[in-house]
Amino acid sequence: MDASPNNNSKEIQKSTKIKCALSTCATDFEPTNSKKRYCCDACRFRGYKERHAPKLKFLKSWQDQFKLNAAGLKKLFDLGEEHPTQKELIIAGFDFSVRDQQRKTSDGRKAFIYFDYALIIEENKPYQIYHHKP
Ligand SMILES: [Zn+2]
Repeated sequence: MDASPNNNSKEIQKSTKIKCALSTCATDFEPTNSKKRYCCDACRFRGYKERHAPKLKFLKSWQDQFKLNAAGLKKLFDLGEEHPTQKELIIAGFDFSVRDQQRKTSDGRKAFIYFDYALIIEENKPYQIYHHKP
């Protein structure tokens, strides 16, 4: 039985300073609770933006490219290039990696839709641009 009369746990009041998690601040501070990572509210707010910036930037560039893809399909379609080659699509600014979920056209073919235009990709067949506005 350990009967220590005085609980001297308070003596272990060592310095618990940590660095502010905001890279541009990095001030040493003593967190009031274990979950605290930033020295102040301003840093916490900036930290949130810092952590989410790459994702937002990615989303923005994805949306921009999605619009470019739609514009590229429209351009080729307007030029009468309904069956463009991969190279022609790329020259028109099309990026194959940027696409929405594959859907089916009204005649049951698989297509990637970009607003009013769709690119139909079928095995062993040339690409086809489909204008699906009624
Ligand atoms: Zn800070």
